Amino acid sequence: MSELTGKVALVTGGSRGIGAAIARRLADAGAAVALTYAQSKDQAQAVADQIELEGGRAVIIHADLTDPTTAAAAVDETVKALGRLDILVNNAGFLAYGPIGETTLEDLDRVLAVDVKAIYLAAQAASRHLGEGGRIINIGSCFTGRVPGENFVLQAMAKTALIGLTKGLARELGPRGITATTVDPGPIDTDMNPADGDSGDFQRNLTALGRFGEAEDIAAAVAYLAGPGGRYITGTSLAVDGGYTV
Ligand code: NDP
Repeated sequence: MSELTGKVALVTGGSRGIGAAIARRLADAGAAVALTYAQSKDQAQAVADQIELEGGRAVIIHADLTDPTTAAAAVDETVKALGRLDILVNNAGFLAYGPIGETTLEDLDRVLAVDVKAIYLAAQAASRHLGEGGRIINIGSCFTGRVPGENFVLQAMAKTALIGLTKGLARELGPRGITATTVDPGPIDTDMNPADGDSGDFQRNLTALGRFGEAEDIAAAVAYLAGPGGRYITGTSLAVDGGYTV
């Protein structure tokens, strides 16, 4: 029997990149997985099909988190489809980028909707379903520890909100045996941040290891926190960033 056999996980933004790797990894450990997508339905379906081909169980759910109430709906849909919820991974996000003088109120609202409100509402909905041993794992960013240049005010602000959210959740849900943690990725080679992009060398040079990480590096940390090894870890952030914030 695998570590997560009998557990049900919801991974937001599981259609691509880090979220897809997390969905695959949790399924590999035995969890039934619901994964959400906004635009990339075919890619989400391909991730689910692959999991099922390997003997796991997976469903896809549409949730465009620019309407953050869809996050709570996705939690309820997961329970409806898979019977329960044990692990919530708030992963979906986009890179908000631009000088503060040029960002609009719409830009601000979008970041707060996807990166903050949706996570709060998903956690709120999950708190009604999670039992003893439950996990809420938020995907933050190394920008909470180090903002390496201009244009990242919105991104750093939104991701830093997860520190408080995680601590608050840990205190409130701890008495019920539920943990809340954040994983803060450094530069990870995905569509959002390709290792061969314009700023690739700049980012590599900011890490201690001198290279980008892979989506699977984040998935491994999430799987650890979701499994029995993570049962006494709560209210804290784990940097998986190659030493970016050292
Ligand atoms: P990708 O761009 O590769 O994937 C983003 C995922 O989020 C997709 O599944 C996408 O769904 C989903 N998503 C984007 N916008 C929305 C939305 N409005 N509503 C619902 N889902 C949405 O990004 P990564 O895998 O690189 O990033 C995953 C997480 O990791 C993000 O929270 C990001 O901030 C964080 N992170 C990533 C770093 C990196 O270097 N890659 C560094 C630090 C943090 P769809 O395709 O279906 O639209």
